[in-house]
Amino acid sequence: MRWNGRGELVCPLRGQSLESRLAAQRSVRRAPEMNTLSLEVAVEFEDDKKVHVFCDARVDGTAVADPLRHSISLAELRESAVASGPCYLITCSCGNAGCAGIEKPVEVTHSGSTIEWNISEPAPQRHFSFEAEAYRSVIQEAMRSFPLATAKIERVTSKQASPTPRGEEEFFWGGHRAV
Ligand SMILES: [Zn+2]
Repeated sequence: MRWNGRGELVCPLRGQSLESRLAAQRSVRRAPEMNTLSLEVAVEFEDDKKVHVFCDARVDGTAVADPLRHSISLAELRESAVASGPCYLITCSCGNAGCAGIEKPVEVTHSGSTIEWNISEPAPQRHFSFEAEAYRSVIQEAMRSFPLATAKIERVTSKQASPTPRGEEEFFWGGHRAV
């Protein structure tokens, strides 16, 4: 604030948008908007003999992929928690992403305390930012809790669980290596 010649207080930033005012105040750091990842074992469908389960991955409560079309790769999620690089986080239930029409992997970028996803396939294009520590603990917790959740589903349904994607059953039944 400063005085003008007419005895009035004048805000030198008056009339500017909130964004530019915050930018002008160097001491004010805007907290970056962070997304929240959640992972759970969910039932896709049941048939006479089996209960088909998948990893229900959500960002801010919205499913990352349609389980009837795609599966979430827990092996790739584990890699995404370790380092930057392309990850086929979204794949086919058979384990081959190309089979589900996915040619471009999710670009995973680790920078400082943030892990980012750039998803181009399947559409729509999406960009998410996660707090790295929270991201890793969500994945570690999933690795720990998935075999328990799968066992419970098997107990309740009295059917054998059939997890997708193929080749990643270890995450649902246990015995996988730690994150
Ligand atoms: Zn397939």
